[in-house]
Amino acid sequence: MKLKGKVAIVTGGAQGIGYSISKLLAEEGSNLVLCDVAEELLKNKSEELSHQFKIETLGLKVDVTKSLECEEMVSKTLDKFQRIDILVNNAGITKDNLVIRMSETEWDSVLAVNLKGAFNCIKAAARPMMKQRSGRIINICSIVGLMGNAGQANYSASKGGLIAMTKSCAREFASRNVLVNAVAPGFIKTRMTEVLSEEQKQKLSSLIPLTRLGEPEDVAKSVLFLASEDSSYITGQVISVNGGMYM
Ligand code: NAD
Repeated sequence: MKLKGKVAIVTGGAQGIGYSISKLLAEEGSNLVLCDVAEELLKNKSEELSHQFKIETLGLKVDVTKSLECEEMVSKTLDKFQRIDILVNNAGITKDNLVIRMSETEWDSVLAVNLKGAFNCIKAAARPMMKQRSGRIINICSIVGLMGNAGQANYSASKGGLIAMTKSCAREFASRNVLVNAVAPGFIKTRMTEVLSEEQKQKLSSLIPLTRLGEPEDVAKSVLFLASEDSSYITGQVISVNGGMYM
């Protein structure tokens, strides 16, 4: 087991990529704090993982856009576990539209969850990690934060911003052995891509050298690598998990 006895916070951990990440970290022995706005799902999933992998879990309803809720998330984690080893900033949303039609609300809400949400969680968790002289922060970005995408100016800006914030935080926290990296998934089979028509999925697959959309587990494996001792000399990096779609 690569993470036996560790303590990991995963935001947006109740479903999709966040749940796959949580499951893999649990399989490797990490205790878990699952945070999400989907309260019912959160409760079921955190109980499920606790039973399946014989780990301690805490399911917390947290809206990452609220700094106070992120601070409470960290203090409740410390109350229960006395430490935080891993923070995975995975919570994210899309509100796609062409720029000329995009409303202020569509812009603000995506930036609030995807970028400010990660900032709120990092700000709250960084102090205890620095005090421990160890920690891993892993930000889930996106291929479109690297290459852009028509109809996603808000989403791509939030993910590009998250990549830049990853690098700044890596520089700020390195002297305290807190490593900060990002994973940039391509198109992955989750609720987020379910909205695409079969035709759109076919078209997308033809643009991917590995000729298929990714699975949430493909992303989870990179997060495990960045959370484990195997990556102890890596910080400020972005790992692309995109089937070769953008090189
Ligand atoms: P998803 O919608 O299945 O899961 C996202 C989770 O985040 C949900 O459980 C949701 O309730 C939670 N969430 C939303 N707003 C929140 C908030 N304010 N506070 C706390 N939790 C909140 O989506 P997914 O596809 O699993 O995406 C996970 C991450 O991966 C996101 O950051 C997304 O941008 C990124 N990503 C996804 C893909 C893809 O193709 N699916 C590609 C690249 C990047």
